[in-house]
Amino acid sequence: MTVTQDVERATDAELKALAEQAGRDLEDASALEILQWAVTTFGPKFCVTSSMEDAVVAHLASRVQPGVDVVFLDTGYHFEETIGTRDAVEAVMDVHVITLTPRQTVAEQDAEYGPRLHDRDPDLCCALRKVKPLQEGLTGYAAWATGLRRDESPTRANTPVVGWDEKRRKVKVSPIARWTQDDVDAYVAEYGVLTNPLLMDGYASVGCAPCTRRVEAGEDARAGRWAGRAKTECGLHG
Ligand code: SF4
Repeated sequence: MTVTQDVERATDAELKALAEQAGRDLEDASALEILQWAVTTFGPKFCVTSSMEDAVVAHLASRVQPGVDVVFLDTGYHFEETIGTRDAVEAVMDVHVITLTPRQTVAEQDAEYGPRLHDRDPDLCCALRKVKPLQEGLTGYAAWATGLRRDESPTRANTPVVGWDEKRRKVKVSPIARWTQDDVDAYVAEYGVLTNPLLMDGYASVGCAPCTRRVEAGEDARAGRWAGRAKTECGLHG
């Protein structure tokens, strides 16, 4: 199945079967091969999502498809370094950055739910500021790529390189799922890829400012996200 053979007309069951077969076929493929498959199969119905922690997947995808859509979710709670990374990616890379925003500003959310919802009900805050906007923003796509890696945390250890996103009913591509942090560092160094300056300031994973802290030596990369709370994922990947 390719985009010219009507991904648009494929049923969810057909797309799910396609994703699961590709996940098996591409398990040992390189990141570029995985992205080439995605671009060939889905054409303009494929996008990359980026948290702007780094631009590795966006860079890989732009090598395969110059001008590829890169979707960024601006929650209104990002560090200024993250917004700066987004702006730099937009300025210097051959990609089309699309910024999604929640329906409510932070002030509007505070007025309806009270201030610091992220402290009192982070699941609701993530639902309002991440999950719903992404759901709506991906409507026009059949497949999306993420920068998930199996070595980031136990919750990501079984990430398929291509799988089926049941929540959004789309094909989900994780071209660097098998990469290690060393692989990422080597790619960044080889190609001079943009990274979030906070990665050089003790942050191993960069999310919203109120829910992200630096990590200590020996902690896994995502230990600084929602630290001290019974929450490890925002709902985008679960
Ligand atoms: Fe809200 Fe924190 Fe989730 Fe960001 S990470 S949307 S501030 S709960």
